[in-house]
Amino acid sequence: MKLFTVGPVNMFDYTLKTAGMQLPYFRTHQFSDVIYEINDLFKTACNAPKDSEVFVLTASGTAAMEATVLNCFNENTKVLIVSGGTFGKRFEELCELHNIPYDVVRVPLDKDLTEEMLNLYKENEYFAMLINKHETGIGKLYDSKLISDFCKTKNMYLIVDAISTLFADKYDMSELGADLTFVSSQKALALTPGITVVAVTKRLYENVIVKNKKKTLYFDFVDCVVQSRRGQTPFTPAVGIMFQLRERLQKIVEYGVEKEIERTNDLATYFRSKVKNIPFSLPKYTLSNCITPISSMSVNTRTLFEILKDEYDLVALAPNDESVLRIGHIGNLVKEDYDELIDKINIVVERLKK
Ligand SMILES: *Cc1c(COP(=O)(O)O)cnc(C)c1O
Repeated sequence: MKLFTVGPVNMFDYTLKTAGMQLPYFRTHQFSDVIYEINDLFKTACNAPKDSEVFVLTASGTAAMEATVLNCFNENTKVLIVSGGTFGKRFEELCELHNIPYDVVRVPLDKDLTEEMLNLYKENEYFAMLINKHETGIGKLYDSKLISDFCKTKNMYLIVDAISTLFADKYDMSELGADLTFVSSQKALALTPGITVVAVTKRLYENVIVKNKKKTLYFDFVDCVVQSRRGQTPFTPAVGIMFQLRERLQKIVEYGVEKEIERTNDLATYFRSKVKNIPFSLPKYTLSNCITPISSMSVNTRTLFEILKDEYDLVALAPNDESVLRIGHIGNLVKEDYDELIDKINIVVERLKK
């Protein structure tokens, strides 16, 4: 089975091996060393400011989105949400649910986020911006400099969901001026789903999170940080995934974060160059290296998805509609996998014509 998905994705052999090991008990100084190493490697990998706090939540990415809203905001902090798809919408729902006042920069489906779109909100006061750097729902990557400049000029906190962009595209927390960033285990890290790593700057942690009253026990970031500083977690973590995470971060840092991104970019570019051989087209907006959405007027992508999966063991992302198919480039994939995919798409397309 080949996964052209965003998570779980094809795991690397070393991760599969680590995933099979007997787990140790975790309230030990030996396990604390694993957490310290993860924290350091993660800071290096996303270039978080040296004095940032890093901790791990045993939960999927949406929990980190919700926990961030709970820990950083309250009914007196108005936020600006950049919303251009499924995950932007999720931030809107979370703010709505937790009574956080918000405005929305709505990015049209077929367009990039522009300075003009942001400038409509320039005169208003906001506490923070919430953005999914890569809107996975449609594969759109937002412009770093645009977001960064806007937040710096307005002196707003910048909260970035980097779940599907970290290690797929260049991501530099310090350069971006992001105050909080999180990433989940099952995306470009290519690990078992179940944990999300959070990095938060000293300024956001001390000025906001520590002082903010919140109604949550499991997702209390202060508890997470206090424990992480001593190499522990408040509750039982997904111990096995922590070992996978340490190893994967070691490999990425050793290999070079830039080279890992280049590897993904190579795969994305290779696949995109081949799309001309199938009756599909690419979107005009800026794409992440993580996925490529391809659309067709003539092929039903739901049927295509099912046949590729059931007859050829090739799994794309499940389509949201009948005209677009999203193909992933993260995890353990090589160019030959795309040759095979393109081949099989052509075979199925021919069949569906009849
Ligand atoms: C995958 C993803 C999430 C998290 O989704 P979960 O199903 O909760 O893991 C959040 N934001 C983005 C941009 C994602 O791609």
